[in-house]
Amino acid sequence: MKYISTRGGIDPISFNQAVMMGLASDGGLLLPETIPSFSSSEIEELAELPYTQLAMAIFSRFIGDDIPPTDLLRLIEASYATFSNKAVVPLEKVGDLYIQELFHGPTYAFKDVALQFLGNLFEYLLVREKRSLNIIGATSGDTGSAAIHGVRGKENINIFILYPHGKVSPIQEKQMTSVLDDNVFNLAVEGNFDDGQRVVKELFADLDFKHDYQLGAVNSINWARIMAQIVYYFSAYSQLPVVARKNFTVVVPTGNFGNIFAGWMAKEMGLPIKRLVLATNANDILYRFINTGTYSLGEVKPTLSPSMDIQLASNFERYLYYLNDRNPQQLKGMLAQFADSGKLVISSNLFAKMTNNFASVRVDDQTILTTIKDVWQKTGYILDPHTATGVKAAYEYRLQNQTNTAMICLATAHPAKFPDAVEQAIGTPPTAPPAITALANLPCRFDMIAADTAAVKAYVIEKLAT
Ligand SMILES: *Cc1c(COP(=O)(O)O)cnc(C)c1O
Repeated sequence: MKYISTRGGIDPISFNQAVMMGLASDGGLLLPETIPSFSSSEIEELAELPYTQLAMAIFSRFIGDDIPPTDLLRLIEASYATFSNKAVVPLEKVGDLYIQELFHGPTYAFKDVALQFLGNLFEYLLVREKRSLNIIGATSGDTGSAAIHGVRGKENINIFILYPHGKVSPIQEKQMTSVLDDNVFNLAVEGNFDDGQRVVKELFADLDFKHDYQLGAVNSINWARIMAQIVYYFSAYSQLPVVARKNFTVVVPTGNFGNIFAGWMAKEMGLPIKRLVLATNANDILYRFINTGTYSLGEVKPTLSPSMDIQLASNFERYLYYLNDRNPQQLKGMLAQFADSGKLVISSNLFAKMTNNFASVRVDDQTILTTIKDVWQKTGYILDPHTATGVKAAYEYRLQNQTNTAMICLATAHPAKFPDAVEQAIGTPPTAPPAITALANLPCRFDMIAADTAAVKAYVIEKLAT
């Protein structure tokens, strides 16, 4: 399989090259040249497979012979052996909904599903190509800890994560700083998240430094992350009762549009998902677009579901490319219109095409709290605030569409990761799994650093020299 850019500015490249490139060199996003598809009988066969075999069957279509099958299977098995549930991504019946728990990985958020695999994949490709990679990223919480856990102890990789000192949740901070492997560097920045992000941007803009020190990123635009996320949609299908498989809808708490884009891919590949429901919090640009056809930027507002506090979703360009019938010129026209006027209005034709696949519901903080409480009172199940947006969206969607399709809500974080919001909703914090409780007593390591590009650069140079 070859990979191309949404902006049409690169010659087709291999899967390996696409993984190492991350963002396409023309500024676009990488996509497979064609979307592989499965017939309905093939999908029934896939539904019989355990998770690692299912991942193998799906990845093979995207990777072709770039990685020998025995090596690929080994990478997949290592990646999901770190999950504490044997189904990896179990589907639970909660009231009249299905909840797919994507949070059984090392950091209790769904990003582990992709980043456990990406860490192993990076290591494999780097060792094979005798190269090294120094990952630098700024985080406000979930991505940094999942990335650190994805690459800890791996050969030929170092990771430097900048987080705002005193401004990430205690659990998230401990999940990062308690990782003592030699290749992990936690930098507590004297400043806020934007300061860290500005430093990282400036480091990447220094092209000599970037090249000489093999800098790389692990943000949500890496194709391998999307690919890894496609698998759990197929797994959800296989865990549904057979009668429900004909007619089901998936609800996805959305930030950067990575998770839901993987669902759209799964649908294109033949999985009979009726529709994808995009749940947002008060940061509602995608909600407004899907409901009105007008895409216009709003301000980022902090909410109880911080991992969804995003306006410009970095993966959305991937979907816009397909919406524009894979025409890079047309896509670039749209992007230019948006850049020039801050606003994009799509034709009724494209709007119909989009709403055929997607619906969207917006959920405010107060409703997040009442949803956590209602579900807990009715079923005893405790939702995290991100998953709660999805559950509320599922109920709204059912009501608005008067439909009785089976609803699958993706649970993107364990409630114990967000104890304050849960306590606000139900009066007590959720019971934490032992690994979260144990964090408090683990030794930790981090270095304080000024929110200054030169200081971070000097730090990286010094650490890589030793
Ligand atoms: C990252 C994240 C999301 C958003 O996922 P996207 O792929 O960025 O849309 C939702 N919930 C949690 C808990 C997350 O960590």
